[in-house]
Amino acid sequence: MAKGNINVSVENIFPLIKKFLYSDHEIFLRELISNATDATLKLKHLTSIGEASVEYGNPIIEVKIDKEGKKIHIVDQGVGMTAEEVEKYINQIAFSGAEEFIDKYKDSGKDTGIIGHFGLGFYSAFMVAEKVEIITKSYKEGTEAAHWTCDGSPEFTLESSDKDTRGTEIILHIAEDSTEFLEEAKIRELLNKYNKFMPIPIKFGTKDINDPEFTPATTKDKDGKETTEPHKQITVDDIINNPNPAWTKQPTELEDKDYKEFYRELYPMQFEEPLFHIHLNVDYPFNLTGILYFPKMTNDMNIQKDKIQLYQNQVFVTDNVEGIVPEFLTMLRGVIDSPDIPLNVSRSYLQADGAVKKISSYITRKVADKLKSLFNANREDFEKKWDDIKIVIEYGMLSEEKFFEKADAFALYPTVDGKYYTYEELFNKTKATQTDKDGKLVILYASNKDQQHSYIEAAKAKGYEVLMLDSPIVSHLIQKLESTKENISFARVDGDHIDNLIKKEETAISKLSEEQQTELDTLLKEVIPSEKFAVQLEAMDSGASPFIITQPEFMRRMKE
Ligand code: ADP
Ligand code: MG
Repeated sequence: MAKGNINVSVENIFPLIKKFLYSDHEIFLRELISNATDATLKLKHLTSIGEASVEYGNPIIEVKIDKEGKKIHIVDQGVGMTAEEVEKYINQIAFSGAEEFIDKYKDSGKDTGIIGHFGLGFYSAFMVAEKVEIITKSYKEGTEAAHWTCDGSPEFTLESSDKDTRGTEIILHIAEDSTEFLEEAKIRELLNKYNKFMPIPIKFGTKDINDPEFTPATTKDKDGKETTEPHKQITVDDIINNPNPAWTKQPTELEDKDYKEFYRELYPMQFEEPLFHIHLNVDYPFNLTGILYFPKMTNDMNIQKDKIQLYQNQVFVTDNVEGIVPEFLTMLRGVIDSPDIPLNVSRSYLQADGAVKKISSYITRKVADKLKSLFNANREDFEKKWDDIKIVIEYGMLSEEKFFEKADAFALYPTVDGKYYTYEELFNKTKATQTDKDGKLVILYASNKDQQHSYIEAAKAKGYEVLMLDSPIVSHLIQKLESTKENISFARVDGDHIDNLIKKEETAISKLSEEQQTELDTLLKEVIPSEKFAVQLEAMDSGASPFIITQPEFMRRMKE
């Protein structure tokens, strides 16, 4: 028997990484900016616990394009690396320095927000570059800067450099087939997509703005005509991101207007304001923050484009939240940020994953709780919003059992007269007047006010409530209610059910007060021997007999 190690050489792996590691070449920028962010956050942590004696200052990350030289530069002012560290972290594929850092600073560094963890991100640079250079200087005192170069083969060179500022510069020599990434517009688009809410400021070029310190003087000429001098412009760094997005803050720090502002930041092309928001914030048994919005349903809604966005530590990952957010909530908008969602796996695995299932049911619960509290806090306002939110709620009632149960507290059933009942209210309102001869509650509904007008009027004349149920999934919802709630059925207002309804009000018994009814009951029991006869209050049909006395079969037999 022979035993041995399979020899995985870098020569074999390199082209694989290049080709298959990431399906999207464009994510190279996200990965490199994530590393620059991690390097900066590490320094922040080390200075805060006194392990680095340098000034943290206000570090930024800069992205520069050199179109003629066909290069992209990514420069940070983070921890940097010594030559030994380059050997350790860069030359060893799949060794994650980020993971090592989190491990080492387990106790003090839990909430550093460090992004990396697979130790593969850096090599995504080779998806677009034919050569990559790292020029880096560690924050550690007295260390020499290092210069690493690699052209995508397993060979690299490592020499010293004269870089004298702390941090790392990555230089990508863009390959012939990737020159689209040398376009400013392309890079700006990518920065906007992936890095818009990353925690360290990212500079991409400069922009001219009105000098905030300058107040233009207004002068009057001799005819009294006023002229205002032009505003003074200054050139400032163009910072493309908001390092402190709303979802990273505590709900108590935010006002309603902050949530609306953040909505506009997320969806700049969306002019309609959201109806309300739900702030998600949990750290056990999984970590998740986020803000979800119920949008106003409009005809020009762009469901394809304006979707819920998924982030990990403020890095955009995807707007395909299938499996993570319950399906009925995918019409919502907003942000979910969780480091605990395993995204390196297939979608089908994701749906079976226990942690992901918990996340999904947490979101369902939070949404139901929010709807309930909105309903309780201001019912009138909730009723006004009903038309916009009912699709989501009704769909949720159909697809998620837990949500169906909770929805009893806030799901509304509007009538043709514009009243809104909860299920319980509807039940109490109609139970005495709308039963059929088997005692089953029959709820009448219309789906088209104009077409069913005369039927609606006829039903109303008899004192019945008629619901207005016109949403596209209502027939399913009716089935669901009929099969879950006891002893009720729904009937179209233009069906023949109406004629079979018993209006209990008209019976002799129901005209009595409850007190009188009990009195009568006791009286009857006294005079009629219960071992021989059964007494049934309430007549079979409206009118004639207020109660009936029957002799059940088995009693008759007992006598014989
Ligand atoms: P990961 O980020 O998952 O750890 P990467 O392949 O992206 O893996 O990076 C490998 C390691 O290289 C990082 O963990 C870090 O130690 C080091 N590194 C990469 N980029 C930088 C940088 N800009 N500054 C300092 N160290 C860096
Ligand atoms: Mg990384």
